[in-house]
Amino acid sequence: MKKIALALAAVAGLAATGAQAQNYPARPITMIVPFAAGGPTDVVARIVTDHMSRTLGQQIVIENVAGAGGTTGITRAAQAQPDGYTIMMGHMGTHGAAPALYPNLKYDPTKDFAAIGMAAGTPIVIVAKKDFPANDLKGFLDYMKANGEKVNMAHAGVGSVSHSTGILFNSIIKAKPTMVAYRGTGPALNDLMANTVDYMTDQIVNVAPQIQGGNIKAFAIATPERSPVLPNVPTTKEAGLGDYQVSAWNAVFAPKGTPADVVKKLNDALVKSLDDENTKKRLLELGGVLPSAEERTPDGLQKLVNSEVARWTPVLKAAGATAE
Ligand code: ASP
Repeated sequence: MKKIALALAAVAGLAATGAQAQNYPARPITMIVPFAAGGPTDVVARIVTDHMSRTLGQQIVIENVAGAGGTTGITRAAQAQPDGYTIMMGHMGTHGAAPALYPNLKYDPTKDFAAIGMAAGTPIVIVAKKDFPANDLKGFLDYMKANGEKVNMAHAGVGSVSHSTGILFNSIIKAKPTMVAYRGTGPALNDLMANTVDYMTDQIVNVAPQIQGGNIKAFAIATPERSPVLPNVPTTKEAGLGDYQVSAWNAVFAPKGTPADVVKKLNDALVKSLDDENTKKRLLELGGVLPSAEERTPDGLQKLVNSEVARWTPVLKAAGATAE
């Protein structure tokens, strides 16, 4: 008797989840952005969720939960109810580099998420304050050789994109600047514009407008080709530092255990957003790269995450990055 009752309860439970998923979303969705407002991850999140919320018929509310290079917000999102009402914007740092730098990280990017799809590729640009006493990468490297110890590098916390790509850059050019942590590269960029910090390696969507406006200097972009939005910025290869090739990405995830049909609805809304002319225009204007058909799928994104974790662990070790 007891067994039957339990079995019936289980069936009822399943039916309830199924019905919930069918009505999903019945209320606003929270998207956790693990960095300060106004930075690259926040900007990408706001652009893609704008159209997603129209498809889903519910608002997607962005909640900025910054700290520990993005791992604070992602930990919170990973532990949320897997019902589709809490999702997150993760990136190359939180879901690629962080495991190498946090031995006690409370989530495993290869296991603890339901991948939804990539939102944007974000090439890395080497930027400096306007008053930096060099005008190109060669001049920057010469200056660093002579004055390296006095120079400050901004980043968004251990394990973030700017931190991991910055560590890699510093190890290649053999620089040992003072590292200054921020809650995101939005605030870091403000200090770069105020000339109070010297340089950083940041995602193009954050820095492109300020480079175009002449408010900061750009020495090189770490991709094989120049960016159409920064036609005058040379590639690292053109500038004589071809070893520094690195690119970031931002992607939507849900907590592990999110029902398959909810994942499908979210993915469908993301793909529709990326196909929308206005979304495309806004991402491309900032130098963002539209994800490939494969990268837009949950499987394609999960594969990328697995390969990024495998790639960054030895890279960061070789670069001498120390675990927290
Ligand atoms: N993506 C972060 C931000 O939005 C910065 C980083 O990872 O470097 O501020």
